[in-house]
Amino acid sequence: QKGHILVHEVSKYYQGLPALKNVSLEILPGTVTVILGPSGSGKSTLLRTLNCLEKADKGFVQIDNEFMGYTLKNNKLYELKEKELLKQRIHVGYVFQNFNLFPHMTVLENIIEAPIVHGLLTREDAIKNAYELLEIVGLKDKANTWPKQLSGGQQQRIAIARALALSPKVMLFDEPTSALDPELVKEVLNAIKKLASLGTTLVIVTHEIGFAREIADNIVFMVEGEIVETGPSDTIFQNP
Ligand code: ADP
Ligand code: ADP
Repeated sequence: QKGHILVHEVSKYYQGLPALKNVSLEILPGTVTVILGPSGSGKSTLLRTLNCLEKADKGFVQIDNEFMGYTLKNNKLYELKEKELLKQRIHVGYVFQNFNLFPHMTVLENIIEAPIVHGLLTREDAIKNAYELLEIVGLKDKANTWPKQLSGGQQQRIAIARALALSPKVMLFDEPTSALDPELVKEVLNAIKKLASLGTTLVIVTHEIGFAREIADNIVFMVEGEIVETGPSDTIFQNP
């Protein structure tokens, strides 16, 4: 089974100030991990180092034994160039707070673009796949609409479908509901729950505690760039 993540003694600094301090973490394939913690504690930074949107200053991240941001040649690690890095990132889906859909493309075009460009699917297969993904996020009837015609919750579900179109081993979510009106949060959380049941490894930064408790196999609690507590959801949330 794919989607194993190993974070080994990762540190990250911004202007000399630590955002991550020697963070280590193992995430098993097919599990759901929720990262909790106060604002500024390094949650997004950790998430971004997982797929090399940010590069660790110290330590490393491995996904399924591949060193993120590096290639191994003759037992030596070499930094990947931007193009190769993009290729490595294909299998690590990332869902942003603000959806980031392409406004000039229909919903369907948003979803089929990347797998076609990366040569993973023919146009015909990409379209077939897109309808299956739209079914998962409950928006099959929106294929030919434009992003701006959709609610924030619907746009976020399309963004999830778009990330899934590359068949990622891992899906990362950075506060996927924080830009949404309260009444739209649930539909996005339900779409994520559905993904969890399909066996993709999920790592989610969120402030939705009830959701975290319901969906997480493991909780990671961060304070000031460090993991101060980690463990199974039922252990972390048990009443003292
Ligand atoms: P969280 O996601 O928990 O709110 P972040 O990972 O966004 O925390 O930020 C951790 C710390 O690193 C904060 O002090 C933040 O100001 C700082 N930081 C994050 N990104 C940058 C950046 N691009 N440049 C400078 N400082 C940053
Ligand atoms: P989040 O906690 O979800 O990352 P932020 O508002 O902290 O949300 O960060 C949004 C963006 O701003 C990120 O790309 C982050 O890298 C950048 N950022 C965060 N803190 C700082 C900072 N102190 N200086 C410069 N950029 C920052």
